[in-house]
Amino acid sequence: MWDFVLSSWHAIVAAVAGLIAPALFFLALAIIVKGRSWVADIKRALPETGLNAQIILFNVLFSIPLIALAVTWFHGVMKASGLILVPASFWEAMPAWLVIFVAIFVGDFVAYWRHRLEHSALFWPAHAVHHSDTEMTWLSLERFHPINLFTTFVIDSTALLALGLPPFAIIANNIVRHYYGYLIHADLPWTYGWFGKVFVSPAMHRWHHAADVQAFDTNYATVFSIFDRTFGTWRVPGPCTSPLGVTDDMEPTLAAQMLYAFKPRAYRRLFRKFRKVEKPTQHPAE
Ligand SMILES: [Zn+2]
Ligand SMILES: [Zn+2]
Repeated sequence: MWDFVLSSWHAIVAAVAGLIAPALFFLALAIIVKGRSWVADIKRALPETGLNAQIILFNVLFSIPLIALAVTWFHGVMKASGLILVPASFWEAMPAWLVIFVAIFVGDFVAYWRHRLEHSALFWPAHAVHHSDTEMTWLSLERFHPINLFTTFVIDSTALLALGLPPFAIIANNIVRHYYGYLIHADLPWTYGWFGKVFVSPAMHRWHHAADVQAFDTNYATVFSIFDRTFGTWRVPGPCTSPLGVTDDMEPTLAAQMLYAFKPRAYRRLFRKFRKVEKPTQHPAE
């Protein structure tokens, strides 16, 4: 029992310590970019940020240790079954920077399709927790239901492991895509201009979170917007001014957010032949 309490305490301290640097970075960025409105913006986001902190605590204590065990076991089975498709020698012949780039690029490609899966009727109730933040900030990146965390860890890491990528490249992919994830969730109006056609901007991902029918099913990538452009899901009409959130009946409390994915009514879209909300036939100019 004492060991459990001690390891839980260490996990909480590590999680909080890991958030200090990004918190200071995004606070400085808010002061520079927003001018005087930064105080009002932070005050407005406080209730959702409090809920995000509760969800982080829940995941650090309960979800992540269980997911880590499950993923480690699953990867052990993969190795034992010979499911590593590319030999280590293939990557050893390449310069390290290229291996890291491939890991990030392939990691983002896999995450793009995993994210599209999360928007399907079966996986949406768990993913809706991430989208239910109506005052999105950099910390919204950490707002995930345990089922959503599980699918993310299993699908993303399995794909990279199956390619036989070395651990340093997988770790680099995790770090780059995680910290870049903070940036695209931050409350910034940046579209990146022309670079937005190659890289995901904060405005692009904010549109992904918009409660606007024209924004549904768009902007799935994390780092490279070229995946959305290639597969016809890119839409950035400018900085996002739309309200954010979901139409799902989900209270902003820890219990409601965690239990929603276990309610049968959350899956009613599965049994509908057609979605009630029809996509518009015309999108605004890209
Ligand atoms: Zn999403
Ligand atoms: Zn997001």
